[in-house]
Amino acid sequence: MSQQKVAIVGAGPAGLQAAATLVSLGVSVEIFERNGSPGGHLKQWHALFPHFQNATHALNPLLNGVKGITMHLGSKVSEISHNGNTWRLLSDDGLKYESDAVLLTTGFNLFDASRKEEYGYGVYPGVVTSAQLEEMFNGQRPWPFDKSLAAPKIGFVHCVGSRDVKCGNRFCSKVCCVTAVKQAIEIRKRFSDSAVTCFYMDLRMYGLGFEELYHEAQVNHQVQFIRGRLSEASPAVSGKIQVKAEDTLMGRPLKLTLDMLVLMVGMEPAVKLTAQNNHLALGKPGFGDGFMADRELNTPEYLQVTPGLFVAGACKGPASLPDTIQDAKAVSVDVYNFLKTKS
Ligand SMILES: Cc1cc2nc3c(=O)[nH]c(=O)nc-3n(C[C@H](O)[C@H](O)[C@H](O)COP(=O)(O)OP(=O)(O)OC[C@H]3O[C@@H](n4cnc5c(N)ncnc54)[C@H](O)[C@@H]3O)c2cc1C
Ligand code: SF4
Repeated sequence: MSQQKVAIVGAGPAGLQAAATLVSLGVSVEIFERNGSPGGHLKQWHALFPHFQNATHALNPLLNGVKGITMHLGSKVSEISHNGNTWRLLSDDGLKYESDAVLLTTGFNLFDASRKEEYGYGVYPGVVTSAQLEEMFNGQRPWPFDKSLAAPKIGFVHCVGSRDVKCGNRFCSKVCCVTAVKQAIEIRKRFSDSAVTCFYMDLRMYGLGFEELYHEAQVNHQVQFIRGRLSEASPAVSGKIQVKAEDTLMGRPLKLTLDMLVLMVGMEPAVKLTAQNNHLALGKPGFGDGFMADRELNTPEYLQVTPGLFVAGACKGPASLPDTIQDAKAVSVDVYNFLKTKS
């Protein structure tokens, strides 16, 4: 096979893994990333569930794997077109690139928590997102309460912007339950006299080691789990936050005063391809609320309209890092097989 070219859009874990895999198969690759540095959301995280592995230990091998591969940083791809056998990419900074195939690894955007006005995000400084809490753990963001405070009280709200018809997101974001459990334990380790409460609808501990972590949070770290939705957050004295909720298992209303309220924000697709995108139509309308589907479920049948356009990673739906890496490797083989048919 003569050396063929693939453009990868997005240098998150999926894009980095796919680039390394394709290069190892003898394919020429260039990566386009809208941010100033590669790594996607992974570079924002502190410790990974379920074993608290430092996120840099997962990121560094991915970055090492793309050494020598051309990466265009600060280059947001705004247009993809197809002409005969060739794909053309155009980025906001005026870069043009031609390739034999395109792999979209555009991942997700975090749900904008200010859309849930009842929680007061962006209004009360003590209301933060799960992503911001990762930055506090990493020392990149100040804590919204005095750290010398005795016995800080911290609450976590699950399903913010997920499983919520009003927000237009009916899907479960999959990783936020276990992230809340992991973060609750981290808080208890840092602030040994803290009181931590998680408010959930139901807990989805789907992965290996997740259920054990949930057990550990309750038994070893005394994290409290309350089944019930928070109705609202409002300001209390001296910068604290008052929350109202209903414990639906006990059937009683609750009022708590907290020093910090963490909103477990869900994932939304960073790029949506729809039938309106002409020949780029990939996903079925209504499938996964805008995430891109590349195959029929349970069959190897492709949904591609134009051969040569592939998708991998969390742009196909909420996914953990191991799931993302596996998917990127699998799709790279699909891309390679497609290129073989062209050569
Ligand atoms: C709060 C939180 C904590 C998490 N913690 C864990 C954890 O502990 N363990 C775990 O396994 N998983 C965790 N995850 C999930 C993990 O972040 C994802 O599995 C992973 O980031 C998916 O990688 P990706 O490459 O598909 O997408 P992303 O990480 O979103 O990367 C996509 C990349 O594409 C770029 N991009 C998008 N559009 C364009 C465009 N038009 N042009 C150019 N570039 C573009 C973006 O800038 C980004 O760099 C967590 C998720 C959340 C929300
Ligand atoms: S993983 Fe948990 S917190 Fe996240 S959307 Fe699903 S049920 Fe809600």
